[in-house]
Amino acid sequence: MAAEAHRPAYSPEKLFKLIEERRDELVELTRELIRFPTINPPGEAYQPCAEFIGRRLKSRGFQVEYVRATGTPGDEDRYPRINVIARREGSTPGPTVHFNSHIDVVQTGGGWTLDPFAGIVKDGKVYGRGACDMKGGLAASIIAVEALIDAHPHMPGALEISGTVDEESGGFGGVHYLAERGWFSAPRVDHVIIPEPLNVDRVCIGHRGVWWAEIETRGRMAHGSMPFLGDCAIRHMHAFIERLERDLYPRLAARSTAMPVVPSGARHSTLNINSIHGGQPETTGYPAPSVADSCRMIIDRRLLIEEDMDSVKGEVRQLLEQLGRERDGFRFQMRDIFEVRPTMTDRDGPVARSTAAAIRAVLGRDAEFICSPGTYDQKHIDRIGKLRDCIAYGPGILDLAHQPDEYVVIDDMVNSAKVMALAAAALVQRTA
Ligand SMILES: [Zn+2]
Repeated sequence: MAAEAHRPAYSPEKLFKLIEERRDELVELTRELIRFPTINPPGEAYQPCAEFIGRRLKSRGFQVEYVRATGTPGDEDRYPRINVIARREGSTPGPTVHFNSHIDVVQTGGGWTLDPFAGIVKDGKVYGRGACDMKGGLAASIIAVEALIDAHPHMPGALEISGTVDEESGGFGGVHYLAERGWFSAPRVDHVIIPEPLNVDRVCIGHRGVWWAEIETRGRMAHGSMPFLGDCAIRHMHAFIERLERDLYPRLAARSTAMPVVPSGARHSTLNINSIHGGQPETTGYPAPSVADSCRMIIDRRLLIEEDMDSVKGEVRQLLEQLGRERDGFRFQMRDIFEVRPTMTDRDGPVARSTAAAIRAVLGRDAEFICSPGTYDQKHIDRIGKLRDCIAYGPGILDLAHQPDEYVVIDDMVNSAKVMALAAAALVQRTA
């Protein structure tokens, strides 16, 4: 094949050797990243973390740009939303491969037995908040790309690495902001790998959608000793929950998807009741002796690729309207809070195929194609950037994300760096 003949020779063995030699450097880089307490909210230490990444890549021949997402939620001078994007051109024109990692981490929460921001190394693992989700993945992608450049400085195309913020709160100051400004679109970028923690041998091709809404039932206040004079909003909410149990939950459980979502329990539509608040708050330490005039519930509905947003909302509204007809005094309001449509790329597309082939070459077994039960930044790259060729692939163990004593396995980081380097080498050499 003519296209093959023009490809520069490259050697996976040389690449693997270089990455293995940098094992300690990879561990050190992960520890350094963990030591920035980039907690979101509020968006702590974004700037020094972004600048740390930028300085490193600049010293290795990347052009580095910082983009502050001015005016996005949480952006203020004390907590600026600073993103870093680094790009290195190859010797000849060709496709661009972009590795995108979020640098923010969730709150530490309780239950830690070691310092979450020390980057402690123990038993072949690096521990810390963000080790798994996803500073271990970010470090692996940096080592992968640097090794690829050192092994084959004359590769065609271009390589990009970004460290973006606010993924844990929806990505508005991060990938969403950048995608709206063309950073994740052709012709600048062709293929994207997001090193989220989905396990070292799995290629994640998409995620379910989400709809958050607040439902409020209304009642009428009266003295608690004479509830018959009022109308209790909490009892109305109870009636709605009964409808969910009786009508909606069985229907959702019966719906299944062609998306290979893990865990398999998430291959159905799901609805979680995130919270419920009714009645007067106990401000003085004593409960208010009143009939509740309002009860509010937050629902978290996860959608399959086969479902559309309007029908998903419609079936909840229908239950509420039905109750309005059947139940005396039933009044409600439904308010959208947040929504994301499901997304899934083609498992035979270039980035999924190259990554799966690289997994086979590095680990000696077939990659598993999966979808994520929750969303991540792929939604913005797909919907706003209009870039379909995007997957998530990274070394972290999915179940450890957001947990106390979160860690990343060092062997997994080394292996995933090899996979990323090999996949990137194949992708930049593709001819259109
Ligand atoms: Zn993440």
